[in-house]
Amino acid sequence: MFPDVKLHIAGEWRAGSAGQTLPILNPATGETLSQLAVATRQDLDQALEAADRGFRAWRKVSAFERSKVLRKAANLMRERADAIARIMTLEQGKPLAEAKMEVLGGADTMDWFAEEGRRAYGRVIPPRAEGVMQLVIREPVGPVAAFTPWNFPINQAVRKVSAALCTGCSVILKGPEDTPASCTALIQALLDAGVPGDVLGLVYGDPAEISSYLIPHPIIRKITFTGSTAIGKELAALAGKHMKRATMELGGHAPAIVFRDADVQKAVQVLGANKYRNAGQVCVAPTRFLVHDSVFDAFVDGFVGLSRDLKVGNGLEEGVKMGPLAHGRRIEAMEGFVADAEQKGAQLRTGGKRIGNQGNFFEPTVFTDLPLDSRIMNEEPFGPIAAIQRFSDDEEAFTEANRLPYGLAAYAYTRSAETATKLATRVESGMMSINHHGIALPETPFGGVKDSGYGSEGGSEAIEAYLNTKFVTQAGF
Ligand code: NAD
Repeated sequence: MFPDVKLHIAGEWRAGSAGQTLPILNPATGETLSQLAVATRQDLDQALEAADRGFRAWRKVSAFERSKVLRKAANLMRERADAIARIMTLEQGKPLAEAKMEVLGGADTMDWFAEEGRRAYGRVIPPRAEGVMQLVIREPVGPVAAFTPWNFPINQAVRKVSAALCTGCSVILKGPEDTPASCTALIQALLDAGVPGDVLGLVYGDPAEISSYLIPHPIIRKITFTGSTAIGKELAALAGKHMKRATMELGGHAPAIVFRDADVQKAVQVLGANKYRNAGQVCVAPTRFLVHDSVFDAFVDGFVGLSRDLKVGNGLEEGVKMGPLAHGRRIEAMEGFVADAEQKGAQLRTGGKRIGNQGNFFEPTVFTDLPLDSRIMNEEPFGPIAAIQRFSDDEEAFTEANRLPYGLAAYAYTRSAETATKLATRVESGMMSINHHGIALPETPFGGVKDSGYGSEGGSEAIEAYLNTKFVTQAGF
């Protein structure tokens, strides 16, 4: 049984006021799982009124009490992890084990923000005159509009919603229309744990219509978006026009540099697993593999072997390591990247084709010797395609790593402390992981630079975006 997905507005689960719905599809079979309610302008107006009321009430609840609610929600997510993971695999496609890890990771994120909310400290500044008290107070920014995508339906939403709730903000979440039911399960856990109905709205519908209405609306004080750079720039421009705070977690094109002194087998295993996790639909997925001449052949052989051995199939089946792409648009995108690379003379080492004619399955694909103007070398593939290039001088690798306007994650493998230090300082990225994959824990900063956006969604930095700073100075009577 797969649930129909409703909107959550003013404490009620309900259909859209025009009765319109969208089908929710299983990407492994193409079957319709159930229906998703679509919000109208009237629904959005009611969600906005509720967010306004909710904010006035929730900001008065102490950080201590808010923290207890978030912790309770985290425990509910743990109790429900198996059921929610199954829903996620059915609608999104990722293997069940990955889906369960995402649900449990979401619970950890809630726990982290439950604690951080209690540490949203202000400060006292020494005065110039006797008897003056200078205080810095942190206040919740206000109702938040959050826009989250389909690749990690829980992880993308839980970071934004938990950060907003722990600081005393209300939220209207526009969840992902392609994968709405797992996101709904997250909201249900928060409501069951005691978040008041007015504080947490959940809407679905036409993304552009919803964002263009919510962002300029005077009730909304902050927006946060995860998705493509192109859409992020549009939303950031709209937010700027209306002077709204914004966090933008956008696309990436992560370089993964394998130096001559690397542990090549470890690099193949760890980078390979992360290339194909969630079928490559990950903003921090390693994409441009820059490999030193002296280890190039060993790396390519290992990577191609790993790609060929990867078990691709329905995420509900035992032993499957890579599921289908989340929707049909990604298959078309992969075919476009492959055709372009072949036409420009790149060498296809394995994969390159859709698998079967049912579901959105695509072969793990490896290209080498790509011309720099091929699309894969410039656009985020967001799918199971690896581009492996060789370099002979370390400087070439640094130059290539920084060539693109993206700057989200970067990876490197080396046994040299000197090279590791250079990497940390010279690669233009928001995150750098050396000799392991250590990105995206709740307690560590998560965000990009350049066209990959701004703001952090992890670490103690993450709640900054949900707080205003107020300065109060007071003299004696
Ligand atoms: P898309 O660019 O249309 O959508 C990406 C996400 O943004 C979706 O969740 C969508 O609902 C949302 N969106 C689109 N237009 C919007 C608007 N005007 N207002 C508010 N939200 C809007 O395309 P897609 O086919 O879903 O995905 C394609 C590309 O998006 C991928 O290649 C990838 O680059 C990017 N993407 C990035 C992430 C990430 O984690 N950073 C996640 C999903 C998609």
